[in-house]
Amino acid sequence: MKAVVVGAGFGGLAAAVGLHQRGWDVTVAERAPELLPVGAGLAVAPNGLRALDMLGLGDAVRKLAAFQGDAAMRRSDGRVIARTAGSAMERRFGDAVIPATRAAVMDVLTASLPPDALRLGVAATGVEVGGTSERPRLLTDSGPLEADLIVAADGVNSVLRKALFPEHGGPVYSGFTAWRMLVPAPPGDYLPGETWGGGQVFGITPLADGRVYAYAADHSPAGVTYPDEKAELLRRFGGWHHPIPEIIGAAEPGAVLHNDVYEMADPLPAYHRGAVAILGDAAHAMTPHLGQGANQAMEDAVTLAALVGPAKDSVEIATALAQYTALRVPRGADIVRRSHRLGALTQTTSRPKAALRNVVMRLAGRVVPDLALRAMDPVVAWQPPQ
Ligand SMILES: Cc1cc2nc3c(=O)[nH]c(=O)nc-3n(C[C@H](O)[C@H](O)[C@H](O)COP(=O)(O)OP(=O)(O)OC[C@H]3O[C@@H](n4cnc5c(N)ncnc54)[C@H](O)[C@@H]3O)c2cc1C
Repeated sequence: MKAVVVGAGFGGLAAAVGLHQRGWDVTVAERAPELLPVGAGLAVAPNGLRALDMLGLGDAVRKLAAFQGDAAMRRSDGRVIARTAGSAMERRFGDAVIPATRAAVMDVLTASLPPDALRLGVAATGVEVGGTSERPRLLTDSGPLEADLIVAADGVNSVLRKALFPEHGGPVYSGFTAWRMLVPAPPGDYLPGETWGGGQVFGITPLADGRVYAYAADHSPAGVTYPDEKAELLRRFGGWHHPIPEIIGAAEPGAVLHNDVYEMADPLPAYHRGAVAILGDAAHAMTPHLGQGANQAMEDAVTLAALVGPAKDSVEIATALAQYTALRVPRGADIVRRSHRLGALTQTTSRPKAALRNVVMRLAGRVVPDLALRAMDPVVAWQPPQ
């Protein structure tokens, strides 16, 4: 059986590895001429690790873990709102969250593909789904590619989503803009975690290689960029507690990533059309507040590979894709909504709401220490399909 996967992000690569491991001949068409380590860092959550375990790759990512100490949610003056013990997540979900560079996780995935599977510099321009007994055809700038299955994993601005679901409005601007950077760890003691203030958020995640992955988000109209993103970050966050100004100060000018955040407020009606499946941000772009975009892309991918992997003809593929849609559409829609709600809570611009939130979290954390983790159950306790 032949599959063409469009997009060599986390979702596309995980789907390609899963299908390859089940004996499929897989081609990954990626628009970029080379796989660059863009996107700074990400947190692989226990559900993402379970997805990677399905590919036999979970331990390779667990090895990327930094020391797991305590983390805290703080106010911009540094006062702690709530604290979580590094070991608590592991006790509850069997794994900690693994912060890593995107490049390191991508390397784990690409190393599991045959070297000739990746076709770089090939941009998809459209797709012909065809009739029930026809194979779908991918249209690219290097000519058409036919396969038994096409997987659209081409990210938030997916060309294939538009072709498959032209009636769907696509992702909408969330109102948030986000910055990401990788910097050398700042000197002195500090707690990793997130700081919330006046509608803004700043996150600090130490990595095993001695660097820190930091991110920031704020409200903004769409499409605003700055000639000096670092200076803009200092303007917004330079008065916040240690080590936030130091972290921004250590960023290489020009190496601060800045992206507006789009989300799929209206779910797609299905995650397939004919023998074309869609996954990851292409299907359900979400805000980064839950840190789940890539984790969900990998959940999609391993579910798809497990269901479609055994198929031997177009009828079995059709049955498997209907099951994929039934399992993943509600899951994707639920996580998009949860991430949006968390964003509204962490980035509220209302002072009374923020004050109430902080008090409730502080008190709740004392009475039920693992309350924040319990709230993560529906997201992180996911189990792969048998
Ligand atoms: C600030 C921020 C922080 C985040 N933090 C986290 C986190 O901690 N944990 C987490 O799980 N997620 C996080 N995310 C979300 C995560 O980055 C995305 O959800 C994830 O990268 C989506 O993976 P994907 O494979 O679906 O798409 P992508 O990673 O976007 O990959 C799509 C690929 O398709 C290629 N492509 C696009 N169009 C075409 C075409 N026409 N033809 C061929 N190839 C094409 C692209 O070049 C790209 O390589 C964060 C996002 C932001 C903005």
